Amino acid sequence: MTSYWLDEPCEPLARNRLDGAVDVEIVGGGVTGCTAALVAARGGLRVRLHEAREISSGASGRSGGFALRGGAMPYVEARRDLGPERAAQLWRLTERALDHLADLAGNTLHQTGSLRVAVDLEEREELIAEYEALREDGFGVEWIEGRFYGAVHHPTDGALRPGRWVRRLAALAADAGADLREQSRVEALDQLDGEHVIIATDGYTRGLLPRLDEVIVPVRGQVIATEPLSRRLFDCPHYARHGFDYWQQTDDNRLILGGRRDTQVDHEFTAEETITDAIQRELEAFAAELVGEPPKITHRWAGIFGQTPDQIPLAGRVPGHDGLWVAAGYSGHGNVLGLVCGELVAQAILGRPAPELELFDPARLY
Ligand SMILES: Cc1cc2nc3c(=O)[nH]c(=O)nc-3n(C[C@H](O)[C@H](O)[C@H](O)COP(=O)(O)OP(=O)(O)OC[C@H]3O[C@@H](n4cnc5c(N)ncnc54)[C@H](O)[C@@H]3O)c2cc1C
Repeated sequence: MTSYWLDEPCEPLARNRLDGAVDVEIVGGGVTGCTAALVAARGGLRVRLHEAREISSGASGRSGGFALRGGAMPYVEARRDLGPERAAQLWRLTERALDHLADLAGNTLHQTGSLRVAVDLEEREELIAEYEALREDGFGVEWIEGRFYGAVHHPTDGALRPGRWVRRLAALAADAGADLREQSRVEALDQLDGEHVIIATDGYTRGLLPRLDEVIVPVRGQVIATEPLSRRLFDCPHYARHGFDYWQQTDDNRLILGGRRDTQVDHEFTAEETITDAIQRELEAFAAELVGEPPKITHRWAGIFGQTPDQIPLAGRVPGHDGLWVAAGYSGHGNVLGLVCGELVAQAILGRPAPELELFDPARLY
């Protein structure tokens, strides 16, 4: 049940004990919380972060490791639902964040691009529409023939080692003076005395604020990792069937493969971080299909992400609560958006302009 990304020793974080009232108190030590801690601490604020388990032990250390531009929905849907200008704004914002990620992540990110592949003619039609919409709006994108039923290549995307990446981010935040407390579960918001409080708990958001429990629904994703394969089959992250299947190969040729949630959809709307036989069998069968024979599985794990009704995260002030902020609800697409939203919320707390927060305003669901 250990995530491959977390199955390695890690350096202890620098200890900064900040007692008494602080400027910012953060709940959650994934990419969002650690980014907010880094930006706020570098901005000169006293920051204390509480993580119930270890840094990156939530979805941030359990993901597929894809660093993708855009939102959880395809660009064509974003144009329809948000309008063309806001959709393009969201996509450009995440492209800038990918550049920023590359600056911060060192060798925990490979900028390989990604391939969204079509598995049948229907998906091919959808992907052609996606490709054309992105091109029309001036985004870098390529149509690839010869693999599956065609594929869209997104050149700015990349492959992360997510556990290492978020530990690295946390180390930067600690170096900037943030007090990062592991094994520190926040049972209730009134136990915090920060002037500002940020809820950064994505799919693990439970019991802190009733309205957030209603609008951020926990969803389980399951993943497997194989032993190193003898061949390099995939040079970049691949995903298909609207993201219900996703896979990539690590530097040492392990296949990391997740998804198939749609085969058991009723069971996967849960906050239980456990694997199930039915999905694991699906993933094994899919791995065998991709490799040509059943590969040896070395790791199996589950993680929880937070889904919102419109698949757009909530980031900004929580209506009706002074000094309370949220950045969560990435709908399975938070590796880059977590960086975006954690940073924007911290910038707003620092009193710096963060106009893009308007895209994620929690008030729309209150
Ligand atoms: C299986 C899976 C695959 C995914 N694949 C991808 C992908 O390839 N690309 C992508 O972009 N996104 C992916 N995602 C989504 C992405 O991982 C998340 O959106 C992102 O990691 C969210 O980061 P976060 O910091 O907001 O939350 P998390 O990383 O989930 O961190 C929240 C933390 O809050 C802590 N916490 C909760 N309650 C409390 C409390 N009361 N007190 C203290 N601490 C608390 C938890 O322990 C947890 O560590 C995937 C998610 C899953 C589950």
